[in-house]
Amino acid sequence: MLYGRGMAWDFSTDPEYDAKLDWAREFVRTEIWPLETVADEMDQAALDRAYAPLQEEVRRQGLWACHLDPELGGQGFGQVKLGLLHEILGTSVYAPAAFGCAAPDSGNSEILAMAGTSEQKQRWLEPLLAGEVRSCFSMTEPNAGADPTLLRTRAVRDGDEWVIDGHKWFSSNASVADFLIVMAVTDPDARPHQRASMFIVPVDTPGVTIVRDVPTMGHPQETFGRYGGHAEIRYEGVRVPADALLGDAGAGFLIAQHRLVPGRIHHAMRWLGQARRAYDMLCERATYRYAFGSVLADKQSVQNWIADSAAEMQAARLMTLHAAWKMDTQGSSAARTDVALVKFYGAKILHDVIDRAIQIHGSLGYSSDLPLEEMYRHARAARIYDGPDEVHRQSVARQVLRGYEPPADEVPTEHVPTRRAAARERFAELLTTVTADD
Ligand SMILES: Cc1cc2nc3c(=O)[nH]c(=O)nc-3n(C[C@H](O)[C@H](O)[C@H](O)COP(=O)(O)OP(=O)(O)OC[C@H]3O[C@@H](n4cnc5c(N)ncnc54)[C@H](O)[C@@H]3O)c2cc1C
Repeated sequence: MLYGRGMAWDFSTDPEYDAKLDWAREFVRTEIWPLETVADEMDQAALDRAYAPLQEEVRRQGLWACHLDPELGGQGFGQVKLGLLHEILGTSVYAPAAFGCAAPDSGNSEILAMAGTSEQKQRWLEPLLAGEVRSCFSMTEPNAGADPTLLRTRAVRDGDEWVIDGHKWFSSNASVADFLIVMAVTDPDARPHQRASMFIVPVDTPGVTIVRDVPTMGHPQETFGRYGGHAEIRYEGVRVPADALLGDAGAGFLIAQHRLVPGRIHHAMRWLGQARRAYDMLCERATYRYAFGSVLADKQSVQNWIADSAAEMQAARLMTLHAAWKMDTQGSSAARTDVALVKFYGAKILHDVIDRAIQIHGSLGYSSDLPLEEMYRHARAARIYDGPDEVHRQSVARQVLRGYEPPADEVPTEHVPTRRAAARERFAELLTTVTADD
């Protein structure tokens, strides 16, 4: 992971795609950023109406769902090109939905494509990709999150049906979704990672109760039924037909893993754009705010913030695009550790850059007159969703440590006295000569 092989390195983007990125940059800034300031005054139906012409324009430009293969309604560009686009879309929480690559729909479409039967694809995937329905991924429970082997939601086979009972929360978009992909334990006696399965559950199935959209740092006031909410859900005697099972029984974790690797890197790609937007605000303020005899740009702490942020953002960007390249060339599983790295490192950089941008704006930065305070609240979640920092660090460390083993007799390989003794023996003749010449 840490050392690449002798491959050809090329950091250029093809000019045709560069032109598309230029278009997307301009489009997001002029058509989507203005939405941010009034979206709260619209209900979901009005917001959907605002989106419709934008989505049409994106389709015309050939950028709709650009990461998915053409047979799935996408452009087949792969993860690196998606990364470059997501960097632009990440500047605004409202942008990805206009481009057909918003979470959780994007990850859900990938698992439906991977594990769905042709009937499931026709019924759920096609309308999802066409932007006609919305989906939700319902896994986390109040008692089981970072360690999903602790899930308690059960699905029990009863004749031709499965009966689901459980309690979930933080099911993003459930209150606006048409269907839920629910992770439930089907075989409690199996090995931990083979106990759970995934089910496609239409949201209007009897027994599904969307209790509330949980108020969060991102949305401190509960407003039920809006895109981007995180719902608490009760599943009580929810009956679904046998063909609601997605993939094989017991394959829930395997499928989840396929969903989570792309899902995590897509977040990391968007964070690059969020961080860059905060950085631009940080730098702009430095140019004109005057205090204690100079503009802030002349203060060394401010220069440090600017330089450190530039270095950290560049590191996060290269790590993210490299992981994307690995996914494109070697597959998601090969890039798992690289993606874990960007999941926690990217989240930290995002947080730190926004934090510095708030600091340089003082009270204005803390106020809602700038988007920074909202960006900061959303950025805090990045360290938790799709697996908390600690779990990703743990998985990176475990993977790295597989390449190491204890030294003989527990003497460190680099122990200087031991190495010196060996070197003295090896170079004995020379050492004697030197001594003799002395
Ligand atoms: C904004 C947002 C959106 C979300 N969307 C969804 C969604 O759409 N669908 C869904 O199913 N879930 C969703 N989640 C839930 C998310 O995936 C979980 O919050 C996450 O997996 C952590 O689970 P938990 O909250 O139960 O924390 P816990 O499992 O209780 O963990 C709490 C803390 O324990 C510590 N910890 C855990 N494991 C370790 C370890 N191995 N080593 C050291 N420390 C550890 C960490 O500090 C961690 O933050 C969302 C969460 C947020 C915040």
